[in-house]
Amino acid sequence: MKRVRIEITGRVQGVGCRPFVWRVAAGLRLNGWVQNDSQGVTIEAQGDSEHIDRLVEILNDASRLPPLMQVSSIRSQPIEMLSDEIDFSIRHSESDDAAEITEVSNDTAACGDCVREMKDPQDFRYRYPFINCTNCGPRYSIIRTVPYDRANTTMAAFAMCPRCGGQYGDPADRRFHAQPVACLACGPKIWLCDPLGKTIESDGDKVIVAAARMLREGRIVAIKGIGGFHLAVDAFNEQAVQRLRQRKHHDDKPFAMMAASLEIIERYAAVDAAARSLLISPQAPIVLLDQKPNPDRPIAPSVATGTRTLGLMLCYAPLHHLLFAEAGIELLVMTSANLADEPLICKNDEALNKLSGVADAFVMHDREIFRQLDDSVMHIVDGQPSFLRRARGFVPGPILGDEPASKEILACGADLKNTFCLVKGRQFILSEHIGDLEDGLVYRHYTRSIRHLRQLFDVRPQMVACDLHPGYLSTQYARSLGIKRVIPVQHHWAHIAGALAEYRCAGQVIGLVADGTGFGTDGAIWGCECLIASLVSFQRFGHLRYYPLAGGDLAAKEAIRPLMGLLADDLCEYDWLLGRIEPDAARRKMIAEQIARGVNTVPTSSLGRVFDAVAAMLGLGTANRFETQLPMALEAAADPTCDDEYPFDLAEDTEQGWLIDLRPMLRAMAADIRGENDIRRIAAAFHNTLAAAFLALARQARQHRKLDTVALSGGVFCNRLLANRLIGLLKTDGFRVLWKQQVPVNDGGIALGQAAIAAAMVRREQR
Ligand SMILES: [Zn+2]
Ligand SMILES: [Zn+2]
Ligand SMILES: [Zn+2]
Repeated sequence: MKRVRIEITGRVQGVGCRPFVWRVAAGLRLNGWVQNDSQGVTIEAQGDSEHIDRLVEILNDASRLPPLMQVSSIRSQPIEMLSDEIDFSIRHSESDDAAEITEVSNDTAACGDCVREMKDPQDFRYRYPFINCTNCGPRYSIIRTVPYDRANTTMAAFAMCPRCGGQYGDPADRRFHAQPVACLACGPKIWLCDPLGKTIESDGDKVIVAAARMLREGRIVAIKGIGGFHLAVDAFNEQAVQRLRQRKHHDDKPFAMMAASLEIIERYAAVDAAARSLLISPQAPIVLLDQKPNPDRPIAPSVATGTRTLGLMLCYAPLHHLLFAEAGIELLVMTSANLADEPLICKNDEALNKLSGVADAFVMHDREIFRQLDDSVMHIVDGQPSFLRRARGFVPGPILGDEPASKEILACGADLKNTFCLVKGRQFILSEHIGDLEDGLVYRHYTRSIRHLRQLFDVRPQMVACDLHPGYLSTQYARSLGIKRVIPVQHHWAHIAGALAEYRCAGQVIGLVADGTGFGTDGAIWGCECLIASLVSFQRFGHLRYYPLAGGDLAAKEAIRPLMGLLADDLCEYDWLLGRIEPDAARRKMIAEQIARGVNTVPTSSLGRVFDAVAAMLGLGTANRFETQLPMALEAAADPTCDDEYPFDLAEDTEQGWLIDLRPMLRAMAADIRGENDIRRIAAAFHNTLAAAFLALARQARQHRKLDTVALSGGVFCNRLLANRLIGLLKTDGFRVLWKQQVPVNDGGIALGQAAIAAAMVRREQR
């Protein structure tokens, strides 16, 4: 006989760990208890020594643990035996704050067991579209307040039937304490209605059959899911996809698609091991994959134009599984149901109000979505998963710091691709993707979300961090809160700090930033930077030589503006090229004058705008109709096998530090375009030149500052070709590279960086 104390850390709370341990321990006839605490899960077990060893062995075998559980460490030590225990029990959590936070877990895809039961005619949840268990189902999207109990979720409206209640209360059952547990008799229901809200079908099975038939016929169906509505349409039906684009107000962004199985995805896209494990993960994100050439059945061209990648995900809600099985369709476009840049629609009446001119029918249900959540979007960079948008499936999973911060902090993020971040103890709780705050409805969603998450996690910020840009709405919001300490953080420092937080890196690094825009400490718009940065301070070591950018807001849309700025010294010489992009000579002249006189013109080192300019030079378009349209087209145009580079200059300026000058590249590129060289080669050489320029800058920083760790960030690094090439060059050259894997490199990661800088400030003051 012996007694041990086992401490497990990692993602172990709210994932079914305690009932799992209870089942194993009871099966092994052990006494003792299991409990959540601020560090994770603690077990004390007493019994036959062989059985105790068996328990430890099972806990160490990842394949036997609940699917959502991720163990970082297990420590077990013998302790003194007790004589007054008679069984094994699940103890209630210590009421410390940290434990409460982790109890809110993320929404996860229907697990294999639930999908099997749903397909089993003998099971009482046969074809029930809301089947779930401890290992799967909605969580964060349905929670109103803590603690995470049914009464505090949108499932409160449904009283459990005796059968569901029996499973809920039985520690030996897979549904023990699964808050959203329900069945046909007691749980939420689906119905199909027309755009006026008139019910077409209310019997669950008939709803699925009718919706599937409409999809096969090429109609557009709005489907309420886990985090909001999708607009679904047959991805092989070009006419239908075009109709969806027109009705969505000529939305040109590539549409994401959903597939019933991995095999189907593999038919249309190249899936490597890293992408495969992402696709089948319980988080079920959209994964951007390279399109396979010439599949047997072509996907409708309008699904994604101007890119070689497809955004694909697997069915994740039980309802999706039922629809796909019924429709016999391989791929459905499943695009977020929203208008323009408004927030995702998640309420039934709102869906009818806003989408009556878009969808032909609506698959509704009566389980309210409390927090709307977009699908997360990821891709593979340097063989590792990397976020483009972090939302459903990952939020509110915290990013853990080294030491707890003694003050609670709110970081307000940036205005584009906004997320915000709350700091409590060691935990950085990054919100889901909120969107672009410029839209009034998104801004309202932003302020409400901050209030809700502060309440949910009981955070009372004593400090607020925000962007340095005084005009950002998020900055103004930060200043409006009446919190005394407002810490403005330079945008690109925050970008790099996000990587430092993720890697828990305390020292200085070389930060390479490739970004669209960020307000600089000198009032210029920064975007292509080399910073020597830590969480305490940063210096600007070098950057792209400033060029004049005319036209305010238009400068991010019309490629002619950055191009004329980049070529400002020799505009006459390039008139033949500029005329192709802006045929109106009077407009060209007006922009040239704006630049020459400095009217509505700012100096910038933006790299995003360089992409716009080069894409336009190559004839890939003249304007961004949606953000990053031209840069995406440029990446898609490049031949990834080409190693050519253009010349560039790198020299030290006494005042401005090391400056990259891309004018030699632009000159050579213009000559190539005039000579009608292959644009695939020119586009590749452009990417390669940027990677080479960043490497050269990093080498100078290494030599002068004796640093060899490089952190990368900025929205332009969402470009896989550039990121992969640069990471490869840096590693070959002996650098250690910090590439973000837990938060996006784009502005969706800014809030984490702001929060980490503020938390570091608090720690310094503590000492
Ligand atoms: Zn399940
Ligand atoms: Zn029931
Ligand atoms: Zn940025």
